[in-house]
Amino acid sequence: MSTAAEAKPKWAIVVHGGAGVIERKDLKPEQEKAYRDAMARVANTGADVLKKGGSALDAIEAAIHVLEDDPLFNAGRGAVFTAEGRNELDSSIMDGSNLMAGAVAGVTRTKHPISLARAVMEHSPHVMLMGKGADDFAASRKLEQVDPSYFFTERRWRSLEAELKRQNLPIPPRPQGAPAKPDEAAALAHDEGKKGTVGVVALDSKGNVAAGTSTGGTTGKRWGRVGDSPIIGAGTYASNSSCAVSATGTGEYFIRLTVAREVCALVEHKGMSLQAAADEVVQKQLTAIKGDGGIIAVAPNGDIAWSFNTSGMYRAKVADGQPLVVGIYKDDP
Ligand code: ASP
Repeated sequence: MSTAAEAKPKWAIVVHGGAGVIERKDLKPEQEKAYRDAMARVANTGADVLKKGGSALDAIEAAIHVLEDDPLFNAGRGAVFTAEGRNELDSSIMDGSNLMAGAVAGVTRTKHPISLARAVMEHSPHVMLMGKGADDFAASRKLEQVDPSYFFTERRWRSLEAELKRQNLPIPPRPQGAPAKPDEAAALAHDEGKKGTVGVVALDSKGNVAAGTSTGGTTGKRWGRVGDSPIIGAGTYASNSSCAVSATGTGEYFIRLTVAREVCALVEHKGMSLQAAADEVVQKQLTAIKGDGGIIAVAPNGDIAWSFNTSGMYRAKVADGQPLVVGIYKDDP
């Protein structure tokens, strides 16, 4: 939180790469380094946009591209598999300056789902598109399309096999076009417990906040399951009258509590500080219904907050005049 002595930052960015069972004893030094480096790279990518006077939306899109391209994270390439052995991607974005929002669920061919969510917001009359129609819209907007096997990683496939065995469900055939050999980058990935998600919130030098989230959902999801990440108000919310929030965790709980909107509502209507609102929703409300996960948030006054009730959350923050801070475990700063 800023004090009178500190000037209000002109811009700020906070990123997350998912929350879950992430404990110091389970991560090899090289794994920990890979995650910390990735979080720093993502925050700096967004910060570079903001430093040049770019918009919060541009910073979020650029930063989430890096996460969607990185097989360490459950978004874009490296996404988890459904029980049918597919990667079905969800994403959303919201502009706090005008409450415009865009979201997509269950896309299978669009390389960067966050850009598709943004296209829905900016170039369609709708807020949310799903499945094939959403991919068709992406193609019509000339957003890069890929073969579904592009999203395949060996370690996520192994997680699917383990999950289906646990549930006594049949293991589907490997997807067509899946590479035969495990890939190096994904080998460093840590299994944070069947899920993960990436998200970014930002404040730009015009004073606008925005939020974006992108995910593959949860391992072994069935029946067209959609989590909180593409649901405006649950996994993502932004309003210049309160704050911008991106969430990660078991989506069903975040939907029931409309977590992202609830944090902003506490700031707007109860006058709570950003950190107090984040803790109220995550540590109290979410924990009370046995939900697990966390959120990142930024306010138009430059306040930054994060809160999670899991053992870890990959995260980083940086703001105008404030140093980069990267964290994984509960006791990191
Ligand atoms: N929130 C995501 C979902 O439920 C998963 C996660 O963030 O770990 O789809």
